[in-house]
Amino acid sequence: MTNPTDANCIFCKIVAGLIPCHKLLETADTLSFLDVGPLSRGHALVIPKGHWVTLDQMPDQVVAQCATVARQVGAAIIKATGASGWNLLQNNGATAGQVVMHVHFHIIPRAEGDGLGFRWPAGKLAAEDAGELVRAITGAMR
Ligand code: 5GP
Ligand code: ZN
Repeated sequence: MTNPTDANCIFCKIVAGLIPCHKLLETADTLSFLDVGPLSRGHALVIPKGHWVTLDQMPDQVVAQCATVARQVGAAIIKATGASGWNLLQNNGATAGQVVMHVHFHIIPRAEGDGLGFRWPAGKLAAEDAGELVRAITGAMR
């Protein structure tokens, strides 16, 4: 089966070899390479070779391969850089911070006091809303 592609997509161009990258690992359905704008040393990306914009559009087996590769590359980056932790970040949609509209998983090595992080203004789940949410979400899965 041929993968979907988008001739104007920068990550599709990397997959096609039209734009160079610092490659870490290639599998049948994925490519992993260093991010050109790293948040920390060793920041890398894992992408599916096919052009899908958001995670929910991807075939299950390609999602699974991305997760496997992210785990493998993440573990190697931690060993190689001496980072003490890492975040796996995946943005879906411009509202969520997605800039490149081709699915990608960020592997972001972390160090104590590195100043990185998510703003996390946690609220409190209201019991009545929880019931409504569970009904709506489980209904949407059918
Ligand atoms: P997003 O904000 O869409 O989740 O992240 C896109 C990421 O892709 C950014 O971290 C950015 O630095 C990276 N990026 C954008 N263009 C290129 C490129 O041409 N090569 C590489 N290696 N990374 C890129
Ligand atoms: Zn693409």
